[in-house]
Amino acid sequence: MIIGVPKEIKNNENRVGMTPSGVAEVVKQGHRVFIQHTAGINSGFPDEAYQAVGAHILPTIEDIYATAEMIVKVKEPIVTEYNLIRKGQLLFTYFHFASDRELTLAMLSNKSICLAYETVEEADHSLPLLIPMSEVAGRMSIQEGARFLEKPQGGKGILLGGVPGVKPAKVLILGGGVVGSNAAQIAAGMGADVTITDINLARLRYLSETLPKNVKTLYASELRIRKELPDVDLVVGSVLIPGDKAPHLITKEMLSMMQPGTVLVDVAIDQGGCFETSHPTTHSAPTYIVDGIVHYAVANIPGAVPYTSTLALTNATLPYVMALANKGWKKACKENPALALGLNIVEGKIVYKAVADVFGLKY
Ligand code: NAD
Repeated sequence: MIIGVPKEIKNNENRVGMTPSGVAEVVKQGHRVFIQHTAGINSGFPDEAYQAVGAHILPTIEDIYATAEMIVKVKEPIVTEYNLIRKGQLLFTYFHFASDRELTLAMLSNKSICLAYETVEEADHSLPLLIPMSEVAGRMSIQEGARFLEKPQGGKGILLGGVPGVKPAKVLILGGGVVGSNAAQIAAGMGADVTITDINLARLRYLSETLPKNVKTLYASELRIRKELPDVDLVVGSVLIPGDKAPHLITKEMLSMMQPGTVLVDVAIDQGGCFETSHPTTHSAPTYIVDGIVHYAVANIPGAVPYTSTLALTNATLPYVMALANKGWKKACKENPALALGLNIVEGKIVYKAVADVFGLKY
């Protein structure tokens, strides 16, 4: 198969769809890979690294779309790419169709095959191509939280791990899923006093067994969260109710219970945020202050560490890329139900019910 990897053109997107090591694997299987000039540079992979493993470099994005049978990328195509996509071309990337009607209609009309990373789903309902980004965001939430606790950044001026003779900072994590457990691990490793909450008791049992001993678990309720607020230093919001908006676990009124300079990191901002006063921010202006409380609500946290994020994402996507290249999308999806759930649009038809329902379109 001929595989094409375009350079991401979405604002501030530095990840790339394939790494040189992934390219080496597919080339070994007899496939041809075309990489757009400088596509990997911001993730640490220059053109030469791809050429060294047998990829061909093409100068423009138009060349990539005109050449490839399968496009492997990271973010959904943006408007300038819509007309480059050809009938029958296979696109393997994040799409998030339900939040973008224009994209959905464009992919229907160009009659491509859209396999969305975010809906590839294992039998246990886990989402193998979303997990790596939650791992990155969870770990980053503590790194960023620690940074914004520094006085010059607007925070309280407290060191997460404390020092001998001085207590560590108190970290409260709301939601103990992939983001929350990764946040807890890093905060605990830095020596903070960590509490992680969830409404799923089985999950809390698992976290209690697997996380370091300086992490306490707490069943989440409004009253219990309120009790934690007066002396908390950093709160990470990492709840998810699949398919729904995040609940507001900290309201505007509750901000006054915290000390000025406390930091709230709302990782769940992509689902509306779990603090009432959150609104999405960007890496160039990541924080703002409401009632003395620092809010960090960057919607694409993994974008700040493209090297790690690209490797984490492509580790997860490569086995699927190999299956699609070796077998073609029809056979690969027939043999792997998890991959088949990634199919959202096939040659002008919506084949993923939730996307059709959101826009009242035919399924
Ligand atoms: P997950 O499903 O693994 O975990 C969510 C957890 O929240 C579950 O354990 C669930 O039981 C718990 N929960 C639900 N309601 C709760 C409540 N009221 N109180 C306490 N816990 C509750 O999800 P995840 O992968 O950890 O993702 C969490 C959020 O982070 C999602 O919204 C995801 O989209 C987002 N995310 C954002 C970024 C970013 O860059 N901002 C990156 C990755 C993920």
